Amino acid sequence: MSSASTSTPVAHNALPPPSVPSAGRSSRIAPHSHIKGLGLTPEGLANVDGAGFVGQTNAREACGVIVELIKSRKFSGRALLLVGAPGTGKTALALAVAQELGSKVPFCPMVGSEVYSTEVKKTEVLAESFRRAIGLRIKETKEVYEGEVTELTPTESENPLSGYGKTVSHVVVGLKTVKGTKQLRLDPTIYEAILKERVVVGDVIYIERNTGAVKRVGRSDAYASSYDLESETYVPLPKGDVHKRKELVQDVTLGDLDAANARPQGGQDIMSVMGSLVKSGRTEVTDKLRREVNKIVKGYVDQGVAEVIPGVVFIDEVHMLDIECFTYLNALLESPMAPTVIFATNRGNSLVRGTVDIVAPHGIPVDLLDRCMIVKTEQYTREQVGKVVHLRSIVEGLKLGSGVLERLAAEGENSSLRYALQLLTPASILANLAGRTQIEVEDIGEMGELFLDAKTSAANIGQGGFDGGKMW
Ligand code: ATP
Repeated sequence: MSSASTSTPVAHNALPPPSVPSAGRSSRIAPHSHIKGLGLTPEGLANVDGAGFVGQTNAREACGVIVELIKSRKFSGRALLLVGAPGTGKTALALAVAQELGSKVPFCPMVGSEVYSTEVKKTEVLAESFRRAIGLRIKETKEVYEGEVTELTPTESENPLSGYGKTVSHVVVGLKTVKGTKQLRLDPTIYEAILKERVVVGDVIYIERNTGAVKRVGRSDAYASSYDLESETYVPLPKGDVHKRKELVQDVTLGDLDAANARPQGGQDIMSVMGSLVKSGRTEVTDKLRREVNKIVKGYVDQGVAEVIPGVVFIDEVHMLDIECFTYLNALLESPMAPTVIFATNRGNSLVRGTVDIVAPHGIPVDLLDRCMIVKTEQYTREQVGKVVHLRSIVEGLKLGSGVLERLAAEGENSSLRYALQLLTPASILANLAGRTQIEVEDIGEMGELFLDAKTSAANIGQGGFDGGKMW
């Protein structure tokens, strides 16, 4: 770097800020916060409960094989289909597969029925989920000037537009660093930032070249006079050098980038703010926009600024999709940028939706089924339900009185693991209302009276509890 260099802050808006993951998606992952992976041994065996996973050994080992196939890029064009009764851990397995692929691998869960909306085409909903399952790690090289200010000289010139008044055309900043003093000729926007930070000669500052951000680190005399009692020396000035730093800046998904680019970029007046609020339910992301985002992303990848991280898209209740969606999924699976696709269903032979009479295993057309590796989940024993309930009670910070775990395990064995887990939080509310910090067996009993499990509820209908199986 020369002793006098010219710097123009680079507009850093090519990649928009990521949108926050939707509350809906994160709340879907929350019930699985105890799951940290498949919990397999280095040999790929699930002989112990691990990583938050209890039992389900065959399914976990099978998923471990799938993870290896994905890592060695031998799973493209294919999908994993998890088959099993509700609450047997299909979503948990899909999440664990994503976790095993890496900590920053996006996991995008959706339910088949989500594609049916009056506003958005079914295929669009699928395309969006796929884009949200492709991560992008953006790295940024920050060039930073750092040192003690020895000179601050703004150069004023006549304002060429108005003909009168003066504007700052640039500022010369002298910076004393460990390697000597450097004189930098900087952009006027940096001068504004310097004024805003109230920087004066003698301050130690930090200027980020990309963004033009200026930070006042401290006063040189304050540092010079700080005496370290232990080493009996003066603490040296934190003077660095004009240097480069490489930093990980952000992890986004292609879906985030699509949405951020589609968002109306109106002014700040109340009407445009209202306009964006009204439209914000669904922003329009067109194929053209996606292609443009892809082009920018490719540019960043080619420059080494960004890295693509394929994630996992999980479609629960896949039998709810129709033939149009299945056809589209076949095409999506073929695309070179496709994430790993995991489906789940609890149906056996069913009608393929959107067809008149095509019955297929799991309601999935055979051409798509051909691409699937199928893994079955098993029902849980009472002991296993107890272990999962125990794990959840720890994660949720709930105290269980004596006999509660056994009672919940029995409830889970009779109905489902999910039913047992669902009783936990409301039971803790009952305990709180009764002035207790611990859930007792009586709270579970009361819960059982208030809420039915699915089997009891269905049996009520069967016994004529409702008119002919209809609610009204
Ligand atoms: P559905 O078919 O209704 O979507 P599912 O098969 O996807 O159900 P999950 O939602 O994965 O079932 O499981 C229900 C709850 O039980 C979740 O909180 C999940 O994390 C937990 N769970 C399920 N199986 C296990 C397991 N083997 N070990 C630990 N926790 C589990």
